Amino acid sequence: MGVTYRIRCRKCGHTFSRNYGVGYNGQGTMYCVRCGRAQAVDFSGGWGWDPTCECGGTFDADALGRCPQCNSMLTKEDIADDEPDTHGG
Ligand SMILES: [Zn+2]
Ligand SMILES: [Zn+2]
Repeated sequence: MGVTYRIRCRKCGHTFSRNYGVGYNGQGTMYCVRCGRAQAVDFSGGWGWDPTCECGGTFDADALGRCPQCNSMLTKEDIADDEPDTHGG
């Protein structure tokens, strides 16, 4: 499946789109819930991977990774989906 979220970092205001989850081909990217590290995954041959990050955290489809600009951890509150195009600050 996979989903593309529009993210707006609440720390630095950087806005970008990022694809999450696994695509129809079984390949995608997951992020560590603890340190935000990205991990490429390939489930096309079945669920045969270790979802444990080297930091002790877990790669999870709900984790959003880090902001590419300020490197802060992103949360669901940083998702700017369907936000109207207004003139904010
Ligand atoms: Zn980690
Ligand atoms: Zn940021």
